[in-house]
Amino acid sequence: MIHYSCDRCKCEINPDEELRYSVQVEIKAVFDTPAGIVDDADTDHLLELHEILERLGDDESDAIGEDVYQRRRYDLCSGCFRQYQKNPLGRESSLSFGFSDN
Ligand SMILES: [Zn+2]
Repeated sequence: MIHYSCDRCKCEINPDEELRYSVQVEIKAVFDTPAGIVDDADTDHLLELHEILERLGDDESDAIGEDVYQRRRYDLCSGCFRQYQKNPLGRESSLSFGFSDN
């Protein structure tokens, strides 16, 4: 039997007894083309992004790649899911509950 644990509180999730929530987060850096400069150029846009990535990729491709694109998946127990749902961006006002200092 596969055991899951919550990525937030580290408790074990027993799928027979409670729901397990899978949260997928995709973060992309968006290079917006200023309006009016490029009309017809999805390809140019891609090329531009490609060039930027190549330039950045020379020395620290891994570190910088994370700034451009990240994909994460978390398992959450139902309690943590409810907390996450209330505050998916981890805004300051909600830090008083849930997070501890260690
Ligand atoms: Zn949890």
